[in-house]
Amino acid sequence: MRQRISALFFSSILLAFGFIALRVSFRYSSNVSILEKLPVLSLETMRPTVSLDDTLNYEARQDVPTRTSWNAPIIWELMFDPDFYDKKHREAKTTVALTVFAVGRYLDAYLDTFLTSAEKHFMVGLPVTFYVFTDQPEKVSNITLAPQRHVKVMKVERYSRWQDISMMRMKTISELIEKELRHNFNYVFCLDVDQVFKERFGSEALGESVAVLHIYYYKLPKEQYTYDRNPKSKAYMEKGDYYYHAAVFGGSCDKVKALADYCYLNTMEDKLNNVEALWHDESHLNKYFWLNKPSKILSSEYCFDPLIHYKTEVHVPRLVWLPKQYSKLRN
Ligand code: UDP
Ligand code: MN
Repeated sequence: MRQRISALFFSSILLAFGFIALRVSFRYSSNVSILEKLPVLSLETMRPTVSLDDTLNYEARQDVPTRTSWNAPIIWELMFDPDFYDKKHREAKTTVALTVFAVGRYLDAYLDTFLTSAEKHFMVGLPVTFYVFTDQPEKVSNITLAPQRHVKVMKVERYSRWQDISMMRMKTISELIEKELRHNFNYVFCLDVDQVFKERFGSEALGESVAVLHIYYYKLPKEQYTYDRNPKSKAYMEKGDYYYHAAVFGGSCDKVKALADYCYLNTMEDKLNNVEALWHDESHLNKYFWLNKPSKILSSEYCFDPLIHYKTEVHVPRLVWLPKQYSKLRN
């Protein structure tokens, strides 16, 4: 009897130990699996933060359309409360990336002016990283930036044709979003370097999918828009909504990646067919935004030509073209 009791006693102790050992190993293994999952969690794509466009005053401007037929806002001065937008985006901890290319002689000609003015006017008060793509990283000067704002210099090859330098930006932008931006930024804007910020280009410009009205065309009848009219090109389109300027576009990482992939793939298909779209990446971008309507449109305040000789509705030129010096700067 005593033997049976002690056998029972020992076996229950063994069982208890076994149970504890199992729990410990289970806990350990479940911790390990959580740890293994962590990088996956942090790789999740970041979403746009807040949409404040319900607060826009669509009546503030009677001289221009302030909404598209699909109800997207067209942002003009007087329609938005800048302090409200900034406050809400700071509370939502919105982060923004900006890409800009300065390849070949465009670096000396434009980059410093672009970056120093961007620091003064682009998304002031929000964390911003400027991604500078160039073939000469050592030549990028140091710019003094506010806390939480950074410049990252990335090396790219220099294509021999300026058309390719411009078009192949889409491939680089897509890869950057996939590798780095989508884990760290709610929004990304992609800009030409041959421009200078003069006034606020702020959080009112943020949205899921953002295009800008080309200053030359926003007052013209649609028949005069310079879409690609060659049926052999993937950019071919018969009609559209607006003529957008490819010098400024932006949105959530997902949406901008979709745009960049679309433009890049269609550019490559054109190459295989020995055609090139009339206005290169801009023609493909216009086709993309015809098929995938932007959720927000920026007026030409956000991409203004100061040499324009007719009267425009632009009260506040925010981002302004610098003089083109094609013969000196292009290959
Ligand atoms: N670009 C560049 N080096 C070049 C050609 C173009 O860095 O040799 C980049 C630069 O960011 C430039 C953009 O591609 O702003 C588009 O080219 P460009 O501004 O000449 O086109 P446009 O605005 O005249 O249509
Ligand atoms: Mn340009």
